[in-house]
Amino acid sequence: MWRRRPIQPIRRPPLRRPARRAHPKLVEAHKLFQNGDYLEAAKLFEELADKAEKNKIPQAPRLYLQAGAAWIKAEEKDKGIEIIKKGLGKFIERKKWAELKRSASAVVHRLRENGLNEQAVEIETWLEKQVPQEVKEAPVWVKATSVRGSRVSAQLPTNCPKCGGPVNPKEVDWIDTSTAACVYCGSLLRAD
Ligand SMILES: [Zn+2]
Repeated sequence: MWRRRPIQPIRRPPLRRPARRAHPKLVEAHKLFQNGDYLEAAKLFEELADKAEKNKIPQAPRLYLQAGAAWIKAEEKDKGIEIIKKGLGKFIERKKWAELKRSASAVVHRLRENGLNEQAVEIETWLEKQVPQEVKEAPVWVKATSVRGSRVSAQLPTNCPKCGGPVNPKEVDWIDTSTAACVYCGSLLRAD
């Protein structure tokens, strides 16, 4: 029996990055969070959120919310709540009312799920003061829950294939009845 030295494939870095690949740091941040490395995840999400905000990227508010969730998991509750308010505040600045309502509901739900009732009430009370009365009475606010989403929710992937972020069917931005956009990287998620 003779052996041949295994031939190493020549690996060349691709000349250009595929256009819609998620930011490697975003992929890393989700991984850190999923592995329970909350402190590192929090710092990275916050860094990404600041950068996204500076570059006017629409995902910036959600990145702040995820940073806040990570700070809370890292037992830094006050810091977490402060960052969550910052994230929700960015939706208010941009007058993205439907996104604000969906995200705020998801945040409050998540806080309650983790037994953080006091913090949930703090967010609700704060939000109540931030949203103008005429918005609260408008259809955009009243009907902001994703009805279309709930119909096809079971068919969406649980994590974004591009960035690895968790997919919450009630929080995603639905483009049509079978396509949604990842709230962290904007990649299209197909329900099939
Ligand atoms: Zn994504």
